[in-house]
Amino acid sequence: MMKEIQEPARSIPVRDEVDVLVVGGGPAGLMAAQAAAINPDGSRSGLKVMLIESRGTLGGNMTQGLPLLGFLGRKGNEVIKGLPLRFVERLRERGQATHHRACPLHVSLTMIDPEGTKRLAWEIMEEAGVKVLMYVFCAEVIKEGKYEDLPGHIKDNIVLDADGKFVFVEGSRLPPTLMFSMRGVDSRKLRDAVADHPDIYDIDFLPNEFFRASDNCTMVGFRNQIRQAREQGYDIPVERTIFMTGMADDEWWVNMSRVNGIDATDPEQYTRGEEICIRQNAEIARYLKAFIPGFEHAYVDRVAPFMGIRESRRIVGEYVLTEQDIFDCARFPDAIGVASYPVDLHHPVGGDCTLMWCPDCYDVPYRSLVPKEVDGLLCAGRNISATHLALASVRVMGPAMCLGEAAGKAAQLCVRTGAQPRTLDVGRLQQELKAEGVYFRPDEPTNKE
Ligand SMILES: Cc1cc2nc3c(=O)[nH]c(=O)nc-3n(C[C@H](O)[C@H](O)[C@H](O)COP(=O)(O)OP(=O)(O)OC[C@H]3O[C@@H](n4cnc5c(N)ncnc54)[C@H](O)[C@@H]3O)c2cc1C
Repeated sequence: MMKEIQEPARSIPVRDEVDVLVVGGGPAGLMAAQAAAINPDGSRSGLKVMLIESRGTLGGNMTQGLPLLGFLGRKGNEVIKGLPLRFVERLRERGQATHHRACPLHVSLTMIDPEGTKRLAWEIMEEAGVKVLMYVFCAEVIKEGKYEDLPGHIKDNIVLDADGKFVFVEGSRLPPTLMFSMRGVDSRKLRDAVADHPDIYDIDFLPNEFFRASDNCTMVGFRNQIRQAREQGYDIPVERTIFMTGMADDEWWVNMSRVNGIDATDPEQYTRGEEICIRQNAEIARYLKAFIPGFEHAYVDRVAPFMGIRESRRIVGEYVLTEQDIFDCARFPDAIGVASYPVDLHHPVGGDCTLMWCPDCYDVPYRSLVPKEVDGLLCAGRNISATHLALASVRVMGPAMCLGEAAGKAAQLCVRTGAQPRTLDVGRLQQELKAEGVYFRPDEPTNKE
């Protein structure tokens, strides 16, 4: 058992008092802060909204070189609209985001420029009048009466926890990865080799010909090449090679390091994970140059600013979203957004992955954002109330942004009407979200309570 010390009682000055406090400036937190601070017509709501972020940049995992997944449904229609789509459209106007490319494997891929994303994130916070505090780590929440007050720094009415952590962990967790990019790749050579030689370059799920076009894609496979590399002594932590297009023609982002069994809430394990990923990435870059056509003269260009955590704590909410809801294309009466992405299960042991799709898309119920017992708190992003398998679908950035918008708008309504998240008029929330452009499926009977 760890040694413990008693913290002496102390008075802590109140630094600020706000209406809504958003913890974490990732895709969910950014949308939450913006939605809380503006009305559906874009004017400021007049609420005092603050966003605290523990790192020195905004964007969370949007700054890792990853494509935004989940903007299209399996039928090819846009299912993420509202503020997230406005964000992508503004990036696109600057040449910093691509179109949504439909993909039979990942449903849709939208590439974004990490640096452009950081900049636009600041701009939307400024336009909405959100006060941002960087390098502030939310370590504890003090509960006073019905509300949650952050210790000694900020008093608030509603806390939005969009930092991907909170209360609850089930058995195994999805493993973390440190992304890196390589430039100098001869992409034409790569694409043609893959398309022309399915006998040599084995690609999972998709026909090799899919990769011939110069368009957004994630290549998953090359198991033969990994086997050969291992025979020659390379130490590769995964069974499949995974890399995806970047914004430049010769740029590919590599998603292959992984550390199983890491608890991201434990600083020692988190630190060890970073170190292991750095070592793995050096070996992976060496492998790509030696075994993948087009990578011969490639070089490591950027390394993501931090190891990305796929899963840590999440809340137990008024409703726990399940994998069955996903496979049933659930329609909930209290839907606040729609998601469409397979249950993408990175096996916490071994280096493989399993994908299981829903036929179209599914609703996310408001109740999955509302903690079961705590008042004054809403969650969005990868900390929502969902099973391990359901999280493996709903966690991707399209839905995370959409849930952030819903949580932010709900917080705004709570402050305006004096309601608690659990007693909020969800019909009114849905109306406001519709007015802001959020996509809801056409009226059809619900199939879930
Ligand atoms: C390696 C990897 C690959 C992935 N691939 C894809 C992909 O290709 N496409 C896709 O759409 N999704 C992908 N995902 C999933 C997706 O990135 C996340 O699920 C999504 O970013 C969740 O959004 P979020 O806002 O909840 O959390 P995050 O993006 O993790 O943001 C959380 C923010 O909160 C801050 N924070 C954390 N704790 C505190 C605290 N105590 N106080 C203050 N601030 C805090 C963090 O610094 C961070 O900025 C991937 C995830 C990983 C890890």
